[in-house]
Amino acid sequence: MADEKFDAIVVGGGPAGLTAAYVMAKAGMQVIVVERGEYCGAKNVFGGVFFTNVLREIMPDFLKDAPIERNITKRRFSLMTPDGEIGGDFKFDRFNKDFSNNSFTVLRSKFDKWLSDKCEAAGAMIITGAVVDDFLMKDKKIAGVKARMEDGDLYGDVIVLADGVNSLLAKKLNFHKELDPKSTIIGVKEVIGLSEERIRDRFALNGNEGAAYEYFGYSAKGAIGSGFIYTNKDTISVGVGATIASMLEHKLNPNDVLEAFKNHPTVAPLVRDGEQKEYSAHLIPDGGYKKLSKLSGDNVMVVGDAAGFVNATLFHEGTNLAMETGKLAGETAIEAFKKKDYSAVSLSQYDTKVKNSFPMKDLKQFKNTGETLEHNPKMFDKYPTLFGDLVAELFTVDGEPKWNKEKRLMMKLLTSENPFALLKTMIDMRKVII
Ligand SMILES: Cc1cc2nc3c(=O)[nH]c(=O)nc-3n(C[C@H](O)[C@H](O)[C@H](O)COP(=O)(O)OP(=O)(O)OC[C@H]3O[C@@H](n4cnc5c(N)ncnc54)[C@H](O)[C@@H]3O)c2cc1C
Repeated sequence: MADEKFDAIVVGGGPAGLTAAYVMAKAGMQVIVVERGEYCGAKNVFGGVFFTNVLREIMPDFLKDAPIERNITKRRFSLMTPDGEIGGDFKFDRFNKDFSNNSFTVLRSKFDKWLSDKCEAAGAMIITGAVVDDFLMKDKKIAGVKARMEDGDLYGDVIVLADGVNSLLAKKLNFHKELDPKSTIIGVKEVIGLSEERIRDRFALNGNEGAAYEYFGYSAKGAIGSGFIYTNKDTISVGVGATIASMLEHKLNPNDVLEAFKNHPTVAPLVRDGEQKEYSAHLIPDGGYKKLSKLSGDNVMVVGDAAGFVNATLFHEGTNLAMETGKLAGETAIEAFKKKDYSAVSLSQYDTKVKNSFPMKDLKQFKNTGETLEHNPKMFDKYPTLFGDLVAELFTVDGEPKWNKEKRLMMKLLTSENPFALLKTMIDMRKVII
C-alpha cells in the first residue's frame, strides 16, 4: 500500500465517515477508511436511537438486513423530581409501518460493523486497528495522513475527517479550539440484560416495538443534563449525561450520577433484576450552531461529531446529522473528483450544501439552547422539586376542599419563587423545545 494513492481517505469509521465512504465508493472513487477500533463500532458509544432518514435515502432497502433492535413507536418525556416524575408519552401504531419513524434502537458494535461491510461491498477499503496521528504535507498542502501501522503513510486527494468529538486532526488544522466544558457533555451508559417478555411488559410494548424514555429536570443530581432509557431486543440502554462544567460545579462524578439515576424510584422498577452487560462513557459536543468547526479547506472536509453536529436539545439527534454531513461531504468529493479540483474553493461547496441542510437548519433553530439552560440552572433542581411538591399536594386526598387547596398552592408557588423569574424561565424554555 506504501506508494498507492487514493482518491479519498476517510479518518474514522463511525456513521459520518462510513456514509461519506459509501457515497464516494458507489460513485467509483477509490476510498480508504482508517478506523482506530478493532472493527468499526468496536468501542463506539451512543444512547441507543439511530435515526435512519439519511440511511434510507442512500440505502433504501436497509431494513432487509440492518441489525435493528427495536422499532421506536413510543416516546416518553418526563420532568424528574428528587422522588418522582411528572411525565407524558405518545405511542402511534403508524410507526409500526414501513420505516417506523426512522427511529430504531441499535447496538453500535453490530450496526457500525454492518455499515462498514456495506462500504466494503460498495468498493471501499476499510483498515481497522490503526490510529491516524497526523497529516502528510506536500507543497504546504495536505497530501495524506500518517496512520499508526506498517506502511502507514497514506496519500489521497481529499481527506474526510470523521474522527468524532474532539477531533485532534481538525484541531491541528486550527479548525476548532479546545472543547469548552460548558458545551461538552460527558455521557455514561450501561447496557442491561432483560428478557424480551419483561421489556414488553414493563414498557407496554407489542412485538418488536420499542420505547425511548427521556428524563429532564432532576435527572443528573441537579447538574445540567438529562437521562434516558431505550429498549433493545433483550437489553435496555440506560444512561445520563451532563455538561462537564456543571458536573464539576456540583462536585459530581458521572458514575455516581448514573447509579443515582438507576436507583431513582421511578427508574428502579424499570431496570430491576437486570444484568449489567456493558458500561461505557463518551463525550458529546453540545456547542451546536455557535460552536461548529470550520468545515473545509484545501483537500479536507470535516463531518459529524468532529465538526460538532449534534442536536442535543429535546430531540437528542446525532447519528442522522453525522450521516447527512457525511453524505454531503461525499457528494462534494465526487464533484471535486470529476473536476480534478480539490482546492478550498472547490470543497467550499460542502459548506454551501451543509448550510441548506436539515442539520444546519435545526442547529440554527436551537442555537441558544446551551446558554438558555446554563442561565436557568433552577430547571435542574429547584423547579422540578417545587412542581413535584405542588402536583403531589394537589393530588393528595386529605379532605381539604379543592378550592382551599388550589389557593394555598398558588400562594406557595408565589412565595417560593419570584413570579417574574419563573415566567422568564418558562419563556426561555420555549426556545429549547420549539
Ligand atoms: C452517551 C451518548 C448518547 C447518545 N445518544 C444518541 C442517540 O440516542 N441518538 C443519536 O442519534 N445520537 C446519539 N448520540 C450522538 C451520536 O453518538 C453521535 O452524534 C454520532 O455517533 C456521531 O457519529 P460520527 O461518525 O461523527 O462519530 P463517532 O460515532 O464518534 O465515530 C468516530 C469514529 O472515529 C474513530 N476515530 C477517532 N479518532 C481516530 C483516529 N485518530 N484515527 C482513526 N480512527 C479514529 C473512532 O474510533 C470512531 O469509530 C449520543 C452520544 C453519546 C456519547
